[in-house]
Amino acid sequence: MNDIATLATRPPILGLQDVRVHYPMGTDWLGRPKAVAHALNGIDLQVQAGETLGIVGESGCGKSTLAQLLMGLIKPTSGRLDWVYNTDSERSSHVQIVFQDPQSSLDPRLPIWKIITEPLYVQRSAPRQNMRDIAAKVAAQVGIRAEYLDRYPHQFSGGQRQRIAIARALSSNPDIIVLDEPTSALDISVQAQILNLLSELQRARQLTYILISHNVSVVRHMADRVAVMYLGQVVELGSAAQVLEHPRHPYTRLLLEAVPRLGAPVDDAHVSAPTELPGNRNLPKGCFFRDRCPQATVGCERPQALLPASRSSGTEQVRCHLASAEQGLPTQPAG
Ligand code: SF4
Repeated sequence: MNDIATLATRPPILGLQDVRVHYPMGTDWLGRPKAVAHALNGIDLQVQAGETLGIVGESGCGKSTLAQLLMGLIKPTSGRLDWVYNTDSERSSHVQIVFQDPQSSLDPRLPIWKIITEPLYVQRSAPRQNMRDIAAKVAAQVGIRAEYLDRYPHQFSGGQRQRIAIARALSSNPDIIVLDEPTSALDISVQAQILNLLSELQRARQLTYILISHNVSVVRHMADRVAVMYLGQVVELGSAAQVLEHPRHPYTRLLLEAVPRLGAPVDDAHVSAPTELPGNRNLPKGCFFRDRCPQATVGCERPQALLPASRSSGTEQVRCHLASAEQGLPTQPAG
């Protein structure tokens, strides 16, 4: 983990400004969309070089859409996405992803040296005759021995397969790796090994991680900062210690109460609120959390901006007028 004050002095590697992603859903007989899914609804974020930014929230909050956007798989409907790339010429791809399930993310028909060098092959960024040597070098960095390079994914354990997936992400020497629930498909005994490996690689290669997870203990272990998402917006952003130990936004508090503080990965957190998570076709008016919020009051009928938290000595931001006003909500321990 990095020191937050040091991180703040580093240059941003990625900036998102008011990013929105809306999908048309179905068409009527005139070819017009029947409905629109509002997957991301004004994301403002800066990612600092070398940090781990944890992204947490219930299923349907927009985490996966954000990952797809960062991977370039989808385009924003509006807003800006600015990459500030490392100019190191050896970097042939700026962002890679490690998926949660190495079983399904690795092609079973390929020997692992081909899997590891897949990104280079797709980008044609290294001569073919060098691929095997590159695979051996990267495999060694994740603890896979060179004599295993001709084996196939089914010949490895779950933890080894995730090491291979990490090697594949590393082979193109990216600036940023999106970690999409990187340990949730693994046995508990293997999870810590993979998290430690990711931390070592980050230090050695100055990687920036965007860690998407339901598992608060994984986020607590890895993340420097945490962004909490709700209905396609960031509702709280700050250091992992601030957000996870002293949450200020009412949604963050309910979310943290809904998941175990320690232990195995959890399934989707189920936030205990008077109503279910609303769909993203018809967004609520005013604060998106208003119908579920135990603190809802006058003023919540207005849209809320992500503003500096009250009485915060750090860089914490909250999308709630009570927590960002002088008379704000007191901080309280989570869970
Ligand atoms: Fe709750 Fe109001 Fe804050 Fe929204 S703005 S989180 S409804 S108190």
